[in-house]
Amino acid sequence: MPQANAKLNAFPVFVRVEGEAVAIVGGGDEALAKARLIGQSSAVLRIIAQNAEPELLAFIAQSGASHVAAAYDASQLEGAVMVFAASGDETLDRRVAADARELGIPVNAVDRPELCDFFTPALVNRAPVAIAIGTEGAGPVLAQMLRGRIDQMLSPSLGSLATLAASLRGAAEKLLPKGNARRRFWNSFFQGAPAHAVEAGQLSQAHDAAVDLLLSNAPASGHIALVGAGPGAEDLLTLRAHRLLMEADVIVHDALVPEAVVAMGRRDAERLPVGKRKGCHSKSQAEINALLVELGQQGKRVVRLKSGDPLVFGRAGEEMAALRDAGIAYEVVPGVTAAFAAAADFELPLTLRGVSSSMVFTTGHDLKGNSLPDWAKLAISGATVAVYMGRSVAAEVAGRLIEAGLSPDTAVAVVENASLANRRRFHGTLADLPSLEARGDLSGPVMTIIGDAVAGANFERSEPLAAHRNEGAAKAAAERVQP
Ligand code: SAH
Repeated sequence: MPQANAKLNAFPVFVRVEGEAVAIVGGGDEALAKARLIGQSSAVLRIIAQNAEPELLAFIAQSGASHVAAAYDASQLEGAVMVFAASGDETLDRRVAADARELGIPVNAVDRPELCDFFTPALVNRAPVAIAIGTEGAGPVLAQMLRGRIDQMLSPSLGSLATLAASLRGAAEKLLPKGNARRRFWNSFFQGAPAHAVEAGQLSQAHDAAVDLLLSNAPASGHIALVGAGPGAEDLLTLRAHRLLMEADVIVHDALVPEAVVAMGRRDAERLPVGKRKGCHSKSQAEINALLVELGQQGKRVVRLKSGDPLVFGRAGEEMAALRDAGIAYEVVPGVTAAFAAAADFELPLTLRGVSSSMVFTTGHDLKGNSLPDWAKLAISGATVAVYMGRSVAAEVAGRLIEAGLSPDTAVAVVENASLANRRRFHGTLADLPSLEARGDLSGPVMTIIGDAVAGANFERSEPLAAHRNEGAAKAAAERVQP
């Protein structure tokens, strides 16, 4: 996942070389390596080497490359679409690079990045599919390692499948309207019967299966996936969530889901932010429900992306009810809820043998009434309590729990921006908790975990809450003396 500010200094493109001349100057190993690389394409190789070593000569004989067996001269480069300076001799390579540039031909000089107009990638070749890996020269070993991994992931028959796809493109364009139907066909083509048949080496069955698919493509029916985006870190997204994001026509997301996660969706998916962050303009829940139903009725594949887990304080219940009522198909994909991410950041055992064997997910907002909710009783009997959206009710939560009999010394852990690089951790006791409300330095989402199991957490990287313990009182006092 790219960092927001990381820019490529070399941008990958695929150059058309079919039938074009590619010149390689050099007669040794470097030239042979480049010849083998370019030899994977249908370019016409022109090897310029007065003294070619036997292995290179053998390659030339077997590949049909042309051999210019003469002292180097700039005119030998003419007409080439790219040039490799691979002589192993710095002076000559520099001359070749300068000549190529003079002729307006892009040049690559082996092991001399400063002379290169372009770099050659580590290549996974499943022609017509090519995966090129570049590191801008930073790590040839890294590039080879990645190449090995990607090579293993891809079926050797991928090239045949792509060739079959190319042969059906015209028919698909004629028979299927652009958009959903066509995309659905290709999804089934690359993942369904045609792909399986190609994999098994049965090319004519693959062709028949593809034609069947093409002719039977049913009209679009919408589908909504309620997907947990996790607590914020992109790599806490599940593989299923990622796949659905890659297949989505529309991504409807909450404000708490970071841009980096939304950006993992299909590039041309429509993105609809629906807000729901404190204080921001946003759609009402009824409007969101109606939007999902409408998109479903239009036959769209929708990912409704919610922070954490969709079924934890995500109002998924209302969305599912609306979809059920409208007869629209949906599924739920779980995500890492904020309490789990916060616990992980604190190395905090949510259940702890002999100390706590139950857990409460609450918002604390139900403490405002007169009667104590059931979860408060559970807290008193030893449950670990995770408080969502609890910052603005921190004093209420602490006060009522203490009033109900929980010790003011009960351990408390607080994490702002759990799982993200800018996370902050705080520890203290229930008596310190009210200070959270008045703090102006917390702008991200905050998770509070209360209970004896919290004592098992790692406090080496957290700040004491008590440092701000009197801030609330001080702020209130300051407000009172203001004119
Ligand atoms: N469905 C979400 C919760 C949505 S309610 C989930 O399962 O996590 C929003 C609340 O979740 C926030 O007020 C905060 O208490 C908590 N939260 C969400 N992301 C968080 C994060 N990265 N760090 C800390 N708390 C978070």
